[in-house]
Amino acid sequence: MTRRADVVVIGSGQSGLAAGYHLRRLGVEHVILDAQVAPGGAWQHAWDSLHLFSPAAFSSLPGRFMPPQPGEVYPDAGHVVSYLADYEKRYELPVQRGVHVEAVHRDGEFLRVVTDTGGWQARAVISATGTWWRPFIPAVPGRADFTGTQLHTVNYRSPGEFTGRRVIVVGGGNSGAQIAADLAHSTELTWVTQREPRYLADDIDGRALFDHATARRRALDEGRTDTGGVASLGDIVAVPPVREARDAGLLKAQPMFTRLTPGGVEWADGNRAEADAIIWCTGFRPALSHLAPLGLRVTRGHIPTEGTRAVGEPRLHLLGYGDWTGPASATLIGVGRPARDAAREIAALLAAASA
Ligand code: FAD
Repeated sequence: MTRRADVVVIGSGQSGLAAGYHLRRLGVEHVILDAQVAPGGAWQHAWDSLHLFSPAAFSSLPGRFMPPQPGEVYPDAGHVVSYLADYEKRYELPVQRGVHVEAVHRDGEFLRVVTDTGGWQARAVISATGTWWRPFIPAVPGRADFTGTQLHTVNYRSPGEFTGRRVIVVGGGNSGAQIAADLAHSTELTWVTQREPRYLADDIDGRALFDHATARRRALDEGRTDTGGVASLGDIVAVPPVREARDAGLLKAQPMFTRLTPGGVEWADGNRAEADAIIWCTGFRPALSHLAPLGLRVTRGHIPTEGTRAVGEPRLHLLGYGDWTGPASATLIGVGRPARDAAREIAALLAAASA
């Protein structure tokens, strides 16, 4: 059976919900499809100790502040899930769950969205599928030889299962630092980073990152020199557990090893470390495989966009994947503006088509 909607939004994480909020405000008929059966996007799958790197009020979607979490300055992932579930309900966003989008095709004046529960014809599509679903692990020689456990950030839950074991955490970003800090007290930890860890100043949290991204956007909008992405500030937000572990001398980073051995890892100089488990905190790629049938150019995993609109398909918008879909768009507070712009462009497209 094929159903019809003016706009199909793929994904009901924070990005899809922000898109729904703005489409609703503009009176654009839409449906939001999501593969998962419960609300909250990737936040449902975070490790137990994960907290936001910004206070609640600085982690809000358009229209409604995230309420503070009692007893926590930086809310935990469960609080974010509750906020997103409430947001969806409050704005009566038309989310359909348990619907996996397999492909998007061109179909004359429509885009055809193929799902495991039937098809949709849409005049425009917003893809807001995030990155959590495409964990990235670098191709290091010997990966298949290691006889211990290997997992990625997405599979890590808590230090409990690693107590007393030899664990190597790979990655110098926020996930790597936070998971290393989580494990530092109860395991024999080796933390490996490609370059010396770059901490943001201790008084900088997600608020400052957002301010920086906003200043950059303003500079770009006004044709001034690019002030650079948030990466220019550093890689690691020194959230309290990271700061404590670092200050206790528990987060000493080793450079990247060159290969895995059956029992652990080996560096270029022949030094070795034995390990029971390796946790790859090596990032993500955008989850875009459903867009493959559109044959859009993909450059370094990104589809070229103007704002959020795909250059090669003006009826397709990409939202929330990273700075390439809007400065800070892969954050709770930052996705609102690109979502608004995408909704406005689509409303204009629909109006022009029906004129
Ligand atoms: P997601 O939350 O991944 O939602 C995408 C939705 O799309 C999912 O519900 C999924 O089921 C659905 N989907 C995917 N593919 C399909 C398909 N083919 N068919 C149907 N549905 C599909 N941001 C902050 O603002 N503050 C923070 O403190 C912060 N901390 C972070 C910590 C970590 C470890 C990570 C990884 C990210 C963090 N972020 C933070 C960044 C960002 O806010 C999150 O990554 C957020 O989950 C992105 O939301 P999203 O809606 O774009 O994607």
